[in-house]
Amino acid sequence: MRTKKNKGLYIHIPFCDEICPYCGFSHILSSCNKQNLYINRLKEDILKYQNQFFSSIYIGGGTPSSLNYKQLEELLKSLQVFIHKNISFSFEANPQSLDLEKIKLLAKYNVNRISIGVQTFQKPLQKKLMRFATYSQIKNIIEQLHQFGINDINLDLMYGINGENLTQLENDLKLFTSLDIKHISCYCLQVEEHTIFYNQKIEEMNQDDAADEYQLICEYLKKKGFIHYEISNFAKKGYESKHNLLYWHNDEYVGLGISSAGYENNIRYVNENSLTHYLNSESKKEEEILSILDIEKYYIILNLRLAKGINFLDFKKKFHKDFLKTYEKQIEALKKYDYLKINKNNLYVKEKYFFILNTILLYFF
Ligand code: SF4
Repeated sequence: MRTKKNKGLYIHIPFCDEICPYCGFSHILSSCNKQNLYINRLKEDILKYQNQFFSSIYIGGGTPSSLNYKQLEELLKSLQVFIHKNISFSFEANPQSLDLEKIKLLAKYNVNRISIGVQTFQKPLQKKLMRFATYSQIKNIIEQLHQFGINDINLDLMYGINGENLTQLENDLKLFTSLDIKHISCYCLQVEEHTIFYNQKIEEMNQDDAADEYQLICEYLKKKGFIHYEISNFAKKGYESKHNLLYWHNDEYVGLGISSAGYENNIRYVNENSLTHYLNSESKKEEEILSILDIEKYYIILNLRLAKGINFLDFKKKFHKDFLKTYEKQIEALKKYDYLKINKNNLYVKEKYFFILNTILLYFF
């Protein structure tokens, strides 16, 4: 029996045609044979959930578009059991591996949101990131998506690239917003351990310059009609990512595939990251069983990422206590910095302080 509450399904496709030097995600170089085995294994997992209701599905990676046509069709077919008229069905793609045939296939199998990893159109920065999407290529893909009825399109923009200047960022913002898209996700480049950049000792942009870039992004996108609804995410009205909102609202989601995370029945988990183990059905989960206090902590951390922040009524419904009273001391301590805004229903971080959310959270916990 299906029960209808907001719950997401995330499917991780770890394969990539090339490895980006900044990448800290779980990825494996594309291989047709491994991909066939992986899709078969995923289908076994998907089958186990066929009686569940999902309000959203998100196929992410890695690079889901690196699957070949046949593999992609196999995967999409296996997910049709979850389709209903209100579902948000997202698919991440790299422009190099998203062609017209795949777009037709995605539309045929009810995918209604596409997220494309562009990062930047600035040639010197593309060289650093080893990402080479051209403006005309992206424009063409967007036109094809529209032609097949997929209008909910996100582009990923990277900023904070050491050596980048504000003019380059503004050029990117001009180009991104000239395209017919509904959503932009902005990521500040971070040099994580085990990445090529880390081994090359590439430095991150200094915090002040990165904060200036962030401010430019916020101001520019607002002028272009994008709503800044989450720290890193901007959307035209009504096009906020339903799947990602589920994470920030601390709702449940199932994670399938290697390295994917899930949250069900008060347990947060991360799946096995070894492909060999996964293919041999030996997948193990790392689990964190949450106490009610842990759940409350996650709720606050995640909701403060949102422009709307924490809703007092919702907090009370979930935790049976008053938010302002419970966190009175912390809020008082934060008042002198002017980081927060409190109105009748909500407490939220002011936009200009989003960039230092982690520091603000230290006051709460
Ligand atoms: S950034 Fe994306 S495309 Fe590049 S290696 Fe990582 S997962 Fe693959």
